[in-house]
This record gives sequence, C-alpha cells and structure tokens, in this order.
Amino acid sequence: MTEREHEHVRVAVIGSGFGGLGAAVRLRREGVTDFVVLERADAVGGTWRDNSYPGCACDVPSHLYSFSFAPNPHWPRTFSGQGRIREYLEHVADVFRLRPHIRLNSEVQELRWDDERLWWEIDTASGTLTADVVVSATGPLSDPKTPDIPGIDTFPGKVFHSARWDHDYDLRGKRVAMIGTGASAIQIVPAIQKEVGKLTLFQRTPPWVMPRADRAISKAERWVHRRLPFTTQARRGLLWGIRELQVQAFTKRPNELGLVEQLAKRNMYRAIKDPALRAKLTPDYRIGCKRILLSNTYYPALAQPNVDVVASGLSEIRGNTLVAADGTEAEVDAIVFGTGFHVTDMPIAQRVIGADGVSLAESWKGGMAALRGATAAGFPNFMTVIGPNTGLGNSSMILMIEAQLNYLADYLRQLNVLGGRVALTPRASAVAGWNNRVQDRMKRTVWNTGGCNSWYLDENGVNTTVWPGTTTEFRQATRHVDVGEYEVVRAPAESPEARTGKGSKNKEASAA
Ligand code: NAP
Repeated sequence: MTEREHEHVRVAVIGSGFGGLGAAVRLRREGVTDFVVLERADAVGGTWRDNSYPGCACDVPSHLYSFSFAPNPHWPRTFSGQGRIREYLEHVADVFRLRPHIRLNSEVQELRWDDERLWWEIDTASGTLTADVVVSATGPLSDPKTPDIPGIDTFPGKVFHSARWDHDYDLRGKRVAMIGTGASAIQIVPAIQKEVGKLTLFQRTPPWVMPRADRAISKAERWVHRRLPFTTQARRGLLWGIRELQVQAFTKRPNELGLVEQLAKRNMYRAIKDPALRAKLTPDYRIGCKRILLSNTYYPALAQPNVDVVASGLSEIRGNTLVAADGTEAEVDAIVFGTGFHVTDMPIAQRVIGADGVSLAESWKGGMAALRGATAAGFPNFMTVIGPNTGLGNSSMILMIEAQLNYLADYLRQLNVLGGRVALTPRASAVAGWNNRVQDRMKRTVWNTGGCNSWYLDENGVNTTVWPGTTTEFRQATRHVDVGEYEVVRAPAESPEARTGKGSKNKEASAA
C-alpha cells in the first residue's frame, strides 16, 4: 500500500463507547485533530447502546459513572437507566464536536502492523486506512457469549441474548426461561416477571444481592448542581472516596466482607419466606468474589407464584423442553441468555496482527497481559483502553478509563518528543514485570480466594481482568509513560527505501 492509495491518520480509535469517546475528547484536548473513531454499529454508545433489555440500568451511581470532564447536573436518579446513559454519551459526542471524527458502520475486520512503514493497516467495513497509533476501546463487555447447549437447534421458540434484546418479540403471557443470574439477569427478571405467563430461572450459581439505594434526584438537588457546579464534583468525590476505602477489604482482607454477607442475607430474607427457596438462593462463596449485585426487586420477583428457580445450569434442550444439569425440566416458549460476554477471549484480539505476524489472541493464548493495562509486547503503538487487569469490583470504570487516557496522552507526547516516524513497543520484560506484580497482589484478593468461579478468571483460572488496588494507585501508575519500559523503533521515513517499502527499521536503545 503506497502513501497515495489510502487515507492516513495519526490515531485510529476503535469503538465509541465510554472508552472510545473519552479517547476522542482527550485527543482533541491534546491538540490532535487527525484521528478517526471506528464504530461497527450505526450509533455511538457501546455497551449502553447494545444493552437495551428491560430494567437495564447502571449499578454504579451516575455522578461517578460519568466523565469528570463532562459532569451532568441533570442525572434524574442516583442510579440512572440505560436510556439516560446512552443520551449522555450522545451528548458528549455532540458537545465535544466528535461527530466529524466518527465513522459509523465501520467494523474493523483486520489490523496489521507494517514493520517497515511503522503504521497500522486497518481494514474496515467501510474501507481501508492506516494509522500511526491505534487505540482499541472495544471494551470487554461488547461481544455476547451464549453457551453451546446441546439440542439448541431443536428449540422451536424465540432465543436471544440479554445484550441483543428483541423488542419486537412480545413476552406477554409467554413461558420464558432466563439463563443466568449475573448483573444483567437480575435486572431483567423483575422487569419482565409481571408480564410473562411463567418465568423459569436457570441458576447455576446464586449471586450475592445487596439493596440498591436508588432514588430520584430531586429538582432542588439538580438546581443546586446546575447553579453550583462544584457541588456535582463534591458529590462525585464523596462517592469515589467511599469506594476507595472499600478496596482494602476486597484486596487484602476478604474476611472482613463477612459482615456484608449478613446484610445481603437480610435483603434476601425480607422478600423470601420459603426456607427451600432461601436455601437455593444462598451463595456458598465469599461475597465480592463475583460482582456484588444491587437490587431491591430481584428477590421479591423470585417469590412470585409465576416464577420457578431451577438451582442448576441449563445443560440440554429437547424441542420446547429445557433440561437442567440436575435433570429438572421446563417447557418454555422463549429463552433469554443472560450468560455474559467474551471477556478473556475478546474477538477483536483475533483481528489484530502484530509485528511478528502473530495475532493478539495468539499472543495472549497463555493469558492476557499488558503493560499498565494498556500495551502488549509485539504490538507497537497499539493501546487497549480497559485492557488486562483494569476492571473494578466496586467502583466506576470511568475512573480507570480516564487514567488510561492520561497514559495515552503522555504516550503521544513521547512519540512527538522522539520525532519522525517512530514507534514504541513495550519490552517483554516490562510487560512480564508489571504482570508479575499484579498477579502477586492478586493472590490475597477476594476474587482469587473467595471460592467462586467468575468471568474475572480466564480458562486457566488466572485473574487477568481485575485491578487489585485502588483507582488512585492505578492513576499514579498511568500518569506518565516510562520510556525505559519501551523499545523505540525508527524507520528512515523520508528515505526512498521507506517509500518503496524497502526501508529498514532501526531499534534504538531507549532512555532507560
Ligand atoms: P455474567 O456476570 O457473566 O453472568 C453470566 C451468568 O450466566 C452467570 O450467572 C453464569 O453462571 C450464567 N450461566 C452461564 N452458562 C449457564 C448455563 N448453562 N446455565 C445457567 N446459567 C449459566 O454476565 P452479565 O450478567 O451479562 O454481566 C456481565 C458484566 O456486565 C457484569 O459483571 C457487570 O460488570 C456488567 N454489567 C453491569 C451492569 C451494571 O449495572 N453496571 C448491568 C449488567 C451487566 P455462573 O455464575 O455459574 O458462571
């Protein structure tokens, strides 16, 4: 591919959810205007566009689950619903004038690193371009996972995933199976219970469910937030501080969480009076090991006469009959899979081909690992927003995204300082060192010691998803790029050899 045949940009961002839009705002603030945001769908919003299931809301308070640089004094509830969050993201795209940069219907099909020209070749559904730097902000919760259930082809009814809700299908009066008891399912169950004829919940593992302190934010509060913007920031600060203080219990002293289990049990006992149902719904692992779920309506819905809880996973389907692992059978008209996402096996990783011709998925076969949650060995000038070990169990992912955007901004500054056609590629030793420190801290955490299986762990049982510290620690760790952790790769960009594709790259000893 020659320079004239294609469009070239400084930065290509993949995805237009919180991570992608946040990256776009940050790029503009850093004075970078030569960038595109590649979005596979026909609208922005990421997971908050795709998840439109009944009851969908965020279980992190809205004043914390929003950008620090785009406070929203208008949040209607302490925990806002999907529609309002999606509107917020559309609003961010407008007020920060991101639209001209956004390419909708442009799913990335393949990304290849060109080791001679030091750029990424990007094939998308709407054409090919090249970029010096790629920011992958596809998010870990973007590709729905549906288990391979034997006999699913024999099911004559309706089947869909929670993240791909079919709003044309009328659930009223139907016999519906809900598969799974994660954060999505526990919002769906109370939202559809009243309208369906019969709801059968296939529960492989009972979740811990705490009350949700949700309420409308009064007009007076919103007026104060509008007139006195510092009050929005103060509210955010308070929400953040409380969560920051909780981290120690998750990461160092999981036994302290026993007290919280008592509160969760009380939440269940208030709604569930039947001892047999209580027994089915009582978890046998430490609270926090899986995400702690928040709901005031889940248990009351389960106590209704049109709901059956099958305390066993779905293992087979025979026509209309769903069969659980314990042999329990249920006849249904529709199946809703609330079975989560491809998190540790993100499909985008198969499409990213690095410096050695190896895909990111191949390189992460033994487990995902990235320096400071962002850059992977063998993938120059490629950064993941919400990369390995950046997830949180108890606070807002927006905090982690913003920390990573600081890293991105400094990364671009470093490239500018180095000058010319140049790339940074993390040293394998730096990635391994970072990962070893993360995994060492992980050993004591509730996610590793709590006695559960969760999507935080990969197929080898390694926790490659959660950050084992405070958001403050992560922010500090990502404030600046330590160029010593990188190899600097240069190409004689202006030489005739480079333009004809014969130029040879030079690896420099970095500032280390
Ligand atoms: P999830 O947490 O991965 O839950 C998947 C559920 O499916 C689990 O309960 C799992 O059981 C179950 N499952 C899988 N195969 C099954 C089978 N054959 N039979 C019965 N059950 C089966 O997925 P999710 O609920 O979509 O949530 C994913 C993440 O999205 C959350 O953890 C959270 O980070 C995010 N989320 C956030 C919000 C929010 O309010 N902010 C809302 C929704 C989602 P096991 O537990 O036994 O594995």
